[in-house]
Amino acid sequence: MKKILLTSLLLPILFISHAQTTVQRDPQIEALVAQISADSLQAHVQKLVSFGTRHTLSNVTDKKQGIGAARRWVLSKFQQFAQQSGGRMTATLDTWTLKADGKRVDKDHEISNVMATLKGTDPADTRIFIVSGHIDSRVTDIMNRTSEAPGANDDGSGTAAVIELARILSKASFPATILFVAVSGEEQGLLGADHLSEKALQEKWNIGAVLNNDIMGANHSNETHIIDNTRLRVFSEGLPALETDKKATNIRQYGLENDGAARQLARYAKEIGERYVDHLEVVLVYRNDRFLRGGDHTPFVNRGFAAVRFSEMNENFLHQHQDVRTEKGIEYGDLIKFMDFEYLRKNTGINLAVLANLAKSPAVPQEVTMDIGGLTNSTSLRWKTPITGKPKGYYVLIRETYQPFWQKKIFTMDLTINLPYSKDNYFFAVQAVSETGNESLPIVPSVAR
Ligand SMILES: [Zn+2]
Repeated sequence: MKKILLTSLLLPILFISHAQTTVQRDPQIEALVAQISADSLQAHVQKLVSFGTRHTLSNVTDKKQGIGAARRWVLSKFQQFAQQSGGRMTATLDTWTLKADGKRVDKDHEISNVMATLKGTDPADTRIFIVSGHIDSRVTDIMNRTSEAPGANDDGSGTAAVIELARILSKASFPATILFVAVSGEEQGLLGADHLSEKALQEKWNIGAVLNNDIMGANHSNETHIIDNTRLRVFSEGLPALETDKKATNIRQYGLENDGAARQLARYAKEIGERYVDHLEVVLVYRNDRFLRGGDHTPFVNRGFAAVRFSEMNENFLHQHQDVRTEKGIEYGDLIKFMDFEYLRKNTGINLAVLANLAKSPAVPQEVTMDIGGLTNSTSLRWKTPITGKPKGYYVLIRETYQPFWQKKIFTMDLTINLPYSKDNYFFAVQAVSETGNESLPIVPSVAR
């Protein structure tokens, strides 16, 4: 078991008795991450590619070719894993009719998201953590539903990661629920994610986090020819759309434009992911997505859920959204031979560590507040116990206002803390932490006089 030093070495500020907090890896999560197999991931991608095309509008009834065969295969994998879950995992196709929209859907068509639910063991814990990849693929012409569209990396990589995570986590149990989704209709306009996030909103699901994986299994860029399988990007919005109207005044007054729910989740993914996966750095990108592109996290973000996108560090645009062909000696197309399954293994590990750590953590602390009633050079915080889970204690996180990451992590068993750091100069947040060291997402205090 490795001890990970969490406190920053960057900070010149004095820190009295908490100078070093060591956080150990949770042996259960460490063992689960070790089960992720590059060979297994490769086999999942090979099978996905074998369906010829997984275009959302492709054949849904053929036994071997098209999106219908592909989603039935993913469902069969989920059902197979469910058998080893002791009745906690269930698998289903969520099917509906896409209506022609005059844009990327030219006639009515049957569409399905493939879902596996690993039910939490605590009946009082309503939290759901979602991991997704999109099953559909495309070629150059977005309406072409018959040409070979292997979609090995976009998004066979994310879908294979979801399948691999379901395979491994089906044998584990956590207090909270994990939902594994192979989303459809991404290329036609984020249709499957739109459907799922709207359902979650209507049914008031208690979604704690959404991890969207899209294009995360290849290691070299075109044009700049960078080869790198040691860094993974996480895209996150700083300012959730739903918060802008309601909380704009607070955000402006207190400088919280970099502390929205998605950005907090991205920081958490970096800390927890790097705790468990060796030789991989999670790189925060301070924007919701790349230029000219979209992703399945966005419909969730737009509905106020904490959602982020994982993508490889350097994309190769010759291998995305392209007819499979060779032109002037250059190979185009999203082929399996361009992928790096060791890289995909590590990237899947980041997802596993984050999901398992969240699902094992207590719920977030309640009513976290900061006292701003006086002119002081210290900071007083207080909070209440979480709705579910039995916290061993709490981590108080501190960073200077211009720093991208939390710099200090202080453990306390109390429900209040008084810190010798001026509230004017630092940001704070509080996490609940379980007996086995699994911390909740951080909650930024609201202010109280
Ligand atoms: Zn994609």
